[in-house]
Amino acid sequence: MAADLSVLKDQFLLCRDAMHAWGETKYSFEERNRVVLRVRRCGRCEAWQAVRILRSSGEYLGRTTIQYPEGYRLVGQGRVPKPDIRAEAIRRVYVDMVKRRKLVPEEEEAPRRKAVLAR
Ligand SMILES: [Zn+2]
Repeated sequence: MAADLSVLKDQFLLCRDAMHAWGETKYSFEERNRVVLRVRRCGRCEAWQAVRILRSSGEYLGRTTIQYPEGYRLVGQGRVPKPDIRAEAIRRVYVDMVKRRKLVPEEEEAPRRKAVLAR
């Protein structure tokens, strides 16, 4: 059975389709400054990603972990095929075009609008 994507918030759908919008990034030093912990936050869905990096070479140590916000994951619905995600995103964009509803939240739209107004 196909997953019910209608329950996904627009920003969750965008992140699943077009990758996270990694923004705020913090570094902290561990193990006598040999290892760096990099934590960054998605400015769209507010997921957090953490990874340990070997300071001398920049190589990742271990796996990247991501903590998703409530409602991001479709618990119990299995792995959702990427084409299904894209089709749902495109369906919403089409509906937005028809209804003139904003898919991108106002706060993300604001800088672009300001840039247009500044011309
Ligand atoms: Zn995201």
